[in-house]
Amino acid sequence: MNVAQILGNKGHDVISVQPHRTLAEAIRTLGEKRIGAVVVAGADGSLLGILSERDIIRALAETGTAALESPVSRIMTAKVVTCRHETSVDELMELMTVGRFRHVPVLENGRITGIVSIGDVVKHRVAEIEAESRAMRDYIAMA
Ligand code: AMP
Repeated sequence: MNVAQILGNKGHDVISVQPHRTLAEAIRTLGEKRIGAVVVAGADGSLLGILSERDIIRALAETGTAALESPVSRIMTAKVVTCRHETSVDELMELMTVGRFRHVPVLENGRITGIVSIGDVVKHRVAEIEAESRAMRDYIAMA
């Protein structure tokens, strides 16, 4: 099971914001789309960073509501760990565990082609385990 298979099921849509947008605007996007992180991208679609709920909480804790007027570029994480279509789900889980984050954008030839969240990974792992268990039960029933 790899990232290409996950994207094949969930689609390639990526919600992004531009770096000069305010934190308040980014929060509105997260709320409207019911997601926990947005990719920060330039006008040319290049990946500049990632902004998650945790960054927003940290900014609000540090500077209070004044942070809402800050540009996203000041609050985002600029050093983004990415994956590729052929990255396996095991590798993805390792990246998320070691890096302590729950979102990984997918890059192909420098372009953002999707995003995988820990929720997507768990969903696919559970489906995989259920299929294995079904196959095992069928095998035992035939014996
Ligand atoms: P998350 O668990 O995804 O909500 O993010 C926790 C922290 O890690 C936040 O500071 C995010 O900006 C950062 N983060 C999220 N995803 C990534 C990623 N793929 N690479 C680097 N940092 C990330």
